[in-house]
Amino acid sequence: MAFEGLTERLQNAMTKLRRKGKVSEADVKEMMREVRLALLEADVNFKVVKDFVKKVSERAVGSEVLENLNPGQQIIKIVNDELTDLMGGGKEGIEFSPKPPTVIMMVGLQGAGKTTTAGKLANYLREKDHKRPMMVAADIYRPAAIEQLQTLGEQLNIPVFSMGDQVSPIEIAEKGIEQAKNEGRDVVFIDTAGRLQIDETLMAELSEIKAATQPNEIFLVVDAMTGQEAANVAKSFNEQLDITGVVLTKLDGDTRGGAALSIRAVTGKPIKFVGQGEKLDAIDAFYPDRMASRILG
Ligand code: GDP
Repeated sequence: MAFEGLTERLQNAMTKLRRKGKVSEADVKEMMREVRLALLEADVNFKVVKDFVKKVSERAVGSEVLENLNPGQQIIKIVNDELTDLMGGGKEGIEFSPKPPTVIMMVGLQGAGKTTTAGKLANYLREKDHKRPMMVAADIYRPAAIEQLQTLGEQLNIPVFSMGDQVSPIEIAEKGIEQAKNEGRDVVFIDTAGRLQIDETLMAELSEIKAATQPNEIFLVVDAMTGQEAANVAKSFNEQLDITGVVLTKLDGDTRGGAALSIRAVTGKPIKFVGQGEKLDAIDAFYPDRMASRILG
């Protein structure tokens, strides 16, 4: 289960405090030492942990808190608030274009779940927002990528635009958007190529697709199982492409929490959706407050 270790350790750290009628600065310090270790062990970025601990400590040792009738409860609330804040900010949902189609560019490293997520999101928007989505197969490098998207389209009954693998991804993306306009499709997902690691060729091509298609959203798909490495990947993609949001996948696995808690602070960009399974309806909007509650257990 996701966050299992982190939840247990945070709960342990806070239970001690909850039991006390009076809380001293030393008690807070002791608790924060444990919180810090719990976060580091969950693979949260070092600097993120440091800032988080500082913020919570400063608020928690304030006299209004320690002299409160129920200081333990209040400190737990501060931890909850700061966790929410750490993952929060930024606009919720998708920025739809006032002039359809809304173009959503999907980027990410190979295996992160980019293609699956494109299908899941297209389906989600159709169900929730009554959109008429289309998907564009612009990954011409991985042999099975086009076919994978087509199969996904068939499963979901969502059209897929493809021009094979002998045309440049930029042209495919442009023609795909044109086709969407002609067919009255109001959201276009562009499935771009992934690589095993970030390289200049990949980034240059993604920049070209961005310039040619002027997407309303650029969603980076990252695998939650990769911990703070996911945050590093997000930082690189953001520096090159100025992404608009992150989709965190595989939250149904036993991820420790590093990605969920680091991404926003490291990149300044919000997590917008989370993937929670292989099934095509296993996608949810991301709410920082709910995630904080889930992590605290
Ligand atoms: P891409 O290379 O980034 O396009 O990745 P794919 O979309 O092909 O996904 C790689 C694998 O991850 C596939 O087996 C997907 O079913 C799986 N996957 C994607 N999202 C999730 C998720 O949220 N949870 C789980 N458990 N598996 C996922």
